[in-house]
Amino acid sequence: MKIRSIIIKCFASFICLRRQRLAEPVRKRFASSKGFSEAAALCSLLMLLFCFSAAGFCGPESTEDGPGAEELKAAESVKRSEPGDGGAEHEKTDESEAFDAVAALKYPVRILLAVKKESFCIKAAEAVTPSFNEQPAASESGAEGKLYVNGRPHEGDSFEYSCSEGVTTLACSGARSALEFDGNIFRGCLELSGRGGRTEVVNVVALEDYLRGVVAKELLCSELEAMKAQAVAARTYAYARSGAAAGGWDLRCDTSSQVYGGIKAERSISDLAVEQTRGLVLAYNGSLASQALYHSACGGHTESSGFVYGTAPVEYLQGVECAGSEGRPACAASPYSFWRAEWSREELGQEIAEYLGRKAEAVRGIRILERGPSGRVSRLEAVFEDGGSAVLEREQIRRALRFTDGAGRRRNLPSLKFVVEADGFSQNLQFEDDDIPFPEAVFESGGEAENKSGSVVIVGSGWGHGVGMCQFGAMGLSALKFSFEDILKYYYSGTEVVCIDSLHI
Ligand SMILES: [Zn+2]
Repeated sequence: MKIRSIIIKCFASFICLRRQRLAEPVRKRFASSKGFSEAAALCSLLMLLFCFSAAGFCGPESTEDGPGAEELKAAESVKRSEPGDGGAEHEKTDESEAFDAVAALKYPVRILLAVKKESFCIKAAEAVTPSFNEQPAASESGAEGKLYVNGRPHEGDSFEYSCSEGVTTLACSGARSALEFDGNIFRGCLELSGRGGRTEVVNVVALEDYLRGVVAKELLCSELEAMKAQAVAARTYAYARSGAAAGGWDLRCDTSSQVYGGIKAERSISDLAVEQTRGLVLAYNGSLASQALYHSACGGHTESSGFVYGTAPVEYLQGVECAGSEGRPACAASPYSFWRAEWSREELGQEIAEYLGRKAEAVRGIRILERGPSGRVSRLEAVFEDGGSAVLEREQIRRALRFTDGAGRRRNLPSLKFVVEADGFSQNLQFEDDDIPFPEAVFESGGEAENKSGSVVIVGSGWGHGVGMCQFGAMGLSALKFSFEDILKYYYSGTEVVCIDSLHI
């Protein structure tokens, strides 16, 4: 990029010399003859063309290769191959009607949308992005472009698919065209892989287009720098997993990978965040930081990945304090800054029995056996009325202690950052770091009072595994005028933001 910049400056200087008619001695020195100046102009133009083509994927500061350039290139590619385009150099042969949609995508990623057992319909649709905070515009079936099945033109603008063996690929030509499936609209193409009466529906889409449907779903806010940090983290995560899975797809479309909502999820502010960070990823020691995890809210302190997953520590995934202003956590705006879960002893016994596959027995209480550096519970013992007990570790605890939230939804425990409210049996393990924020209500209970309701109550803070970037914390830091690079470096220690093309992966 530096070389490009230098050459652009040289070219600009040369143009200035021509246009501004500098002092004769200077002009004589740089442009002593008409022949020389024309040759120099030609050289400069050639060098410019070379530089822009070598600039590759990253170019948010360049209008020539900036946001939207790939879409234009793809559109041109599509236009060239459209039947009946009228181009004098193209004959209307069978070959000219073929349309390889996957080949037109840069850095394609494969997203599993659904697994179907019955027939379904896919339609051509118009790719419309709504304005920020507005409802998506209704798609207009067949508004533009033409439907292609396995690279060949298809009659009409809809395709009825009945489960069959093998792979069927659908695409829609046209710069503003997309495919409608299951009430949503997707860029790129759809691959339908049938086997044994089941069909995997996979969206094969350019990485940058995929991110437009991810960033808006993962972070709903108006803080642009936070959204840019989210875009870089999501791009890094997706790129690290593209081609990594053994099956026909790389990522799921839910929280087990990254939440992806296709075109209906897109918002103008998240589109802007994706565009302004185009091609940028996180790197550590010159390699892709392939485990750039993130979570909703840390409750005041993030946790090391080694502790949460019991795996070898990752240098850039160490726990950090999520500090905002006035002594409050940066993620204090999260609705999960404080949460409470309550079960009857029978209910909790039933939940744990279901998770462990054991006979249901009411619990007498729970003991916290061990905490990690940020105060998160790493080992917990449930003691049952029949005298038996079970020890749960790390993320097992979140899955085993499912509870019903205020909205009536049954869900995993929001986080491992919690204490047990005193009930005369259940115990809290004291931990040394008094700076770790916990809900004040817990400390007020003092661990002495007896819970007369006979229920088990725990209170905690945060939502998610607590590793990597805290999304509500990123919003808080963005409001404190942190740049997206600063936000990322804060949560992923020792990393740097680089262009994906510079990594030579
Ligand atoms: Zn946080």
